[in-house]
Amino acid sequence: QKNHIPVACKPRYIRVNTLKVDAEFVIQELGKANLTISRDDIVPDILALASGIDLHDHPLVLNGSIFLQGKASSMVAVALSPEPGWKVLDACAAPGNKTAHLAALMRGKGKIIACELNEERFRTLEETIYRSGAPNVDIVHGDFLDINSRDPLFKEVHAILLDPSCSGSGISAQRLDHLLPSYGKGKGADACNSERVKKLAAFQTKALLHALSFPAVERVVYSTCSVYQTENEDVIKSVLPLATSLGFELATPFPEWHHRGLPVFDGGEYSSIPIKQLPSMTLRVLLLKHIQLVFCLPF
Ligand code: SAM
Repeated sequence: QKNHIPVACKPRYIRVNTLKVDAEFVIQELGKANLTISRDDIVPDILALASGIDLHDHPLVLNGSIFLQGKASSMVAVALSPEPGWKVLDACAAPGNKTAHLAALMRGKGKIIACELNEERFRTLEETIYRSGAPNVDIVHGDFLDINSRDPLFKEVHAILLDPSCSGSGISAQRLDHLLPSYGKGKGADACNSERVKKLAAFQTKALLHALSFPAVERVVYSTCSVYQTENEDVIKSVLPLATSLGFELATPFPEWHHRGLPVFDGGEYSSIPIKQLPSMTLRVLLLKHIQLVFCLPF
């Protein structure tokens, strides 16, 4: 397809951890190794390098100054745009790249509660947060679905990032099978109706409904690295009646981004973002924002 850059030619993205350094510093440091670096024109603080560059052992990675985080993954926290001082819940947090990004956007102010169910991944989350230097993250080892939204600790949560377990069908190694010629047809269509994907979608829906139950929540971003409608538009569509009755409406993060979702519900094509030509994942962001705040919060 015309829009799809072959995986081998895709840039490698890094996210600058602005809790520690700024983009200028990183450009200078990496420039010393004669690497060609460019800023991204949509997501602040991410930089693109030529494909195939391996920075895993680079000191800036090891000391948490930069994160090897793709563009799609970096769009999620920016879509939520938490303000410094807010209380934010990252519902399914490990390995913690988006948690660390939230902390950077909040300039380390306010509170992020990062929840992770899996014990091993919980330890990775701890390491990521330590490496990021984020001073405002509390890590909870447990099931997001078991969190009591009325508990005093959570009743003031302003914003929720929900990036639940998914099929991973948008991750680049697998992606070409699903996207060509269209992910809604052929092989992809069978896979997206598999029992596994249906189970995942049931969990994703439950988790999104739970996110909407937090009494003070104003913004919810739902994201996956799946290309299946079952895990994206269908999940959003099923919660929309309740969300609307609670005063939420779909928002349009990154209006300049042209690769949009399927028009399976009113506004679906504007509020979901399949990111098909990016290196590490295909991801959709659907954002629900409390309707009363549309007029008073810049977004
Ligand atoms: N947001 C993460 C990041 O960008 O680094 C990636 C999250 S990953 C897609 C989903 C995570 O949710 C996994 O680590 C998984 O163990 C965790 N998870 C799955 N079910 C959960 C639940 N019920 N409560 C909390 N975490 C859960």
